[in-house]
Amino acid sequence: EIKRYTRKTHLQFLKMRNLADHDQLTNLMNRREINHYFKICETKKKLKNVNYAICIFDIDHFKSVNDKYGHDAGDFILQKISETVQKQFTEKENIARWGGEEFIILFEYYDNSIIEKLENFRMHIEKNIFSYKNIIIPITITLGLSSSNKISDIDIIIMDADNKLRYGKSNGRNPR
Ligand code: GH3
Ligand code: MG
Ligand code: MG
Repeated sequence: EIKRYTRKTHLQFLKMRNLADHDQLTNLMNRREINHYFKICETKKKLKNVNYAICIFDIDHFKSVNDKYGHDAGDFILQKISETVQKQFTEKENIARWGGEEFIILFEYYDNSIIEKLENFRMHIEKNIFSYKNIIIPITITLGLSSSNKISDIDIIIMDADNKLRYGKSNGRNPR
């Protein structure tokens, strides 16, 4: 009886922890949870000079997706994009829902392959057929990337990635 009770309590604990750490719609890590991974990367950089990179990406004209196809269709797109980003990247890349329709990818390393991987991902989203209730919804994303290579403070790296994302937004987004 005690064993069963302990197991049940443990399962409840895991469930509650998952609720606290993850976004319910997309099942991605939430903003609070990815902070732990930021801390790990900061420490590795300080102690071993291991560089890391941060990408923030945002769905283009997402408001009009909601307006045109409805809020449920918008939710569906958020879920599909989250599935896709998880499939495209590995455990060395931590992904979180950063805010509404913004996501963050933390690369626990920094090399030339990152840009290529992000470019593949951007093209994958652009070419992917998002079909909701038999209606095809065209989706593109804009991305901003920064790294610990030249900037040491993680908050400034995030700000730099965000500024680059904003630059992309005001300079044509992802042209189709
Ligand atoms: P931009 O290309 O400049 O990013 O334009 P945008 O329309 O994507 O950006 P804006 O910030 O104007 O709109 C973001 C929209 O995202 C508005 C908000 O209703 C929607 N949104 C945020 N979170 C959710 C969500 O959980 N579900 C749905 N369906 N929509 C969401
Ligand atoms: Mg947007
Ligand atoms: Mg946004």
